[in-house]
Amino acid sequence: MKYKFLFTFAVTAFLTFCSFGTKAFAAGYTGYLDGVSGDSVSGWAWDSSSPQSSVTVEVVVSDEESGTVLKKSSAAAQEHYSHLSAQGIGTGNYGFSADVALSSLSDGTYTVRAYVGGTELPNRLTLVKSQGSVHVTSASSLRSLGIFKTTAYCPCGGCSEGWGRHTATGAIAASRHTIAVDPKVIPYGSRVLINGVVYTAEDRGGGVKGNHIDIFFDTHSETRQYGTRSAEVFLLP
Ligand SMILES: [Zn+2]
Repeated sequence: MKYKFLFTFAVTAFLTFCSFGTKAFAAGYTGYLDGVSGDSVSGWAWDSSSPQSSVTVEVVVSDEESGTVLKKSSAAAQEHYSHLSAQGIGTGNYGFSADVALSSLSDGTYTVRAYVGGTELPNRLTLVKSQGSVHVTSASSLRSLGIFKTTAYCPCGGCSEGWGRHTATGAIAASRHTIAVDPKVIPYGSRVLINGVVYTAEDRGGGVKGNHIDIFFDTHSETRQYGTRSAEVFLLP
């Protein structure tokens, strides 16, 4: 029985993998991807047609831009979640916590998905790691501000006109952190995601108007390398 289940799971997962974007329908599987804590991803899942058994959840962490799968972990959904039994969801013994070693990821933006029987659980998460801290949002709460023109600046006299690392808000500019914006378009203090990096709007610039963002770099050679690029900009909640 167990082997038959595992085989069914493997086949369903394989079919889902082959038909990326379409959902393999597996009757009875429901649950929810709750969130992230430390290295672990947690939630709950069950098979309503077999409430006494526990299902196996597979958690997949992939790079948001390339889609490359970076971490995979399986966990049995068998912890008791009293809020489930209180809601009349079977025995309530359906909680899972899968260790996916999130602390070993470098800075970047990742997508976290959980599957049971090849069916993705609701609430896919977007995980943004920036300067050691991790921000988690559900994918639906990242709001696109549209396509912006992005350029680069540095503390040199030519770029900052003598301001150096001093910004219009008083913050000291830092790479992979500071951007100059038109505060009428993006208010100071906003955190935005550009090309997988979270920046904070804390500077302005004479030439930075409308849908234009100037990204701070430490050196002028980096600004030359960056040049001018179009990028979709997302506002973090
Ligand atoms: Zn410069």
